[in-house]
Amino acid sequence: MTPEFTRQLHDTLAQIEADGLLKRERAITSPQGAHIDVAGRDMLNLCANNYLGLADHPSLIAAAKQALDHDGFGMASVRFICGTHELHRALESRLAQFLSKDDSLLFAACFDANGGLFEPLLGPEDAVISDALNHASIIDGIRLCKARRYRYANADMDDLETQLKAARADGARHILIATDGVFSMDGLLAPLPAITDLAARYQAMVMVDDCHATGFMGPKGQGTGHHHGLHDKIDIVTGTLGKALGGAMGGFIAGPQPVIDLLRQRARPYLFSNALPPMICAAALAALDIVEKGDDLRTRLFDNAGYWRAGLTARGFELLPGEHPIIPVMIGDARQSQDMAARLGDLGVYVAGFFFPVVPQGTARIRTQMNAALTRADLDFALDAFESAGRDTRVLT
Ligand SMILES: *Cc1c(COP(=O)(O)O)cnc(C)c1O
Repeated sequence: MTPEFTRQLHDTLAQIEADGLLKRERAITSPQGAHIDVAGRDMLNLCANNYLGLADHPSLIAAAKQALDHDGFGMASVRFICGTHELHRALESRLAQFLSKDDSLLFAACFDANGGLFEPLLGPEDAVISDALNHASIIDGIRLCKARRYRYANADMDDLETQLKAARADGARHILIATDGVFSMDGLLAPLPAITDLAARYQAMVMVDDCHATGFMGPKGQGTGHHHGLHDKIDIVTGTLGKALGGAMGGFIAGPQPVIDLLRQRARPYLFSNALPPMICAAALAALDIVEKGDDLRTRLFDNAGYWRAGLTARGFELLPGEHPIIPVMIGDARQSQDMAARLGDLGVYVAGFFFPVVPQGTARIRTQMNAALTRADLDFALDAFESAGRDTRVLT
C-alpha cells in the first residue's frame, strides 16, 4: 500500500472513533443463548435475534451432527455445477410449503437473497418502490438493478401512494413495492394491509423481507403476511436462517414458480457463490419441525415480551408501542444511552445502545429483544438491573 493510502485509512478510522461511532466487538466464550459467557463472566443476553431460543437447541445440534457424519462438511461447488445436495431441495420445498409459496431458493445469507433478487426480475422499463428504512441488503439489491427507483417515508402510506402515482405517470411497465416485514430499530410491523390495498389499486407487486418474523410472527410462525391474514397478497418473501430458525446462516427467497425458476438461472449471488453446507440445511429442517409442531416457544416468547414491556413501563421507562419482541427503551440522548448500556453491562445484562446515525438524532435507545429461552427469573433480574442503571445514569429520575 502507498503511505498516502495507509494514512487515509488511519484518518478515517480516527474520525469514526472521534465521532463515537466505533463498534467494538466482545467475544462470547459459550454457545449463544439466554445466558452467555463474556470474558469469563455470565451475562444475561437481551440483544440476540435468537427469538425462539434455537441457537443452542439439542435437536438442531443433533441434526447438524448427523448430517456432518452422513453428508460431509462442505459442497465445494456452487449449486448448478455439483453443489446441490438432496438436503437443499428438501429445505427449499419445506420452506415453500411453510410460507404457502410455490417454491423457494436458498442463498448463503438473506443479504445475498436481497442482493440477487431485483436485478434478474426488473429491467429499465420497471419501477421499484422502497421504504426509506428498508434493510441495507434491499437498498444494495435495488442499486444493482436497472429499474427506476422510488422511495417512500417509513410506513407512510400517503407517500407510498404518491410514489405509485409517480411510477405510473413515468410509464412503468411493472411496479414492485419492497418492504421489511418488521423494521428492526423500532420493532414496527410494516402496514401490510394498506400496502397490499395500494398495490392492488395500482397493479403493483409486493416483496416482503421477513427476517425478523419468520418462525414466530403469525399464528403458526409463518411471518407478517400470515400475521395480517393476507399472505396470498404478498408475491415474494425473503428471509433468513440466521435469526429465529437456529441463527447459523443462510437466506432464502420464496415466491411463485416462474420467479424462483428465473432466479435459479440468473440471481448472481446464487450462481457465483458456494452452496450452503448440508448440515445447515439439516438443522434448518429440524428448526422447522419445532416451529411447526406447536406453539410452546412462540407462546413463551410473547409471554416474555408482554411481561418485559409491562415491567419496564411500571418502572417508568418510555417504550415504543408495539407487538413485536423487539422492544426499544427510549433514552433520547446518545451519550446517556451509551452510559446506560455500559452500566447494564457492569450489572451483567448484555444490551446494545443505538444512536445517530443508526436512528434519528435525539432518539437514542437501548434495543432489547425477547426470546423464548429467557425465564421469569431472568426477566426479573433484568428489570432490577434496568431500574438501577436507569437511576445511576439519570434516565429515571
Ligand atoms: C438480518 C437481516 C438481513 C440479513 O440476513 P442475513 O441472513 O444475516 O444476511 C436482511 N434483511 C433484514 C430485514 C434483516 O433483519
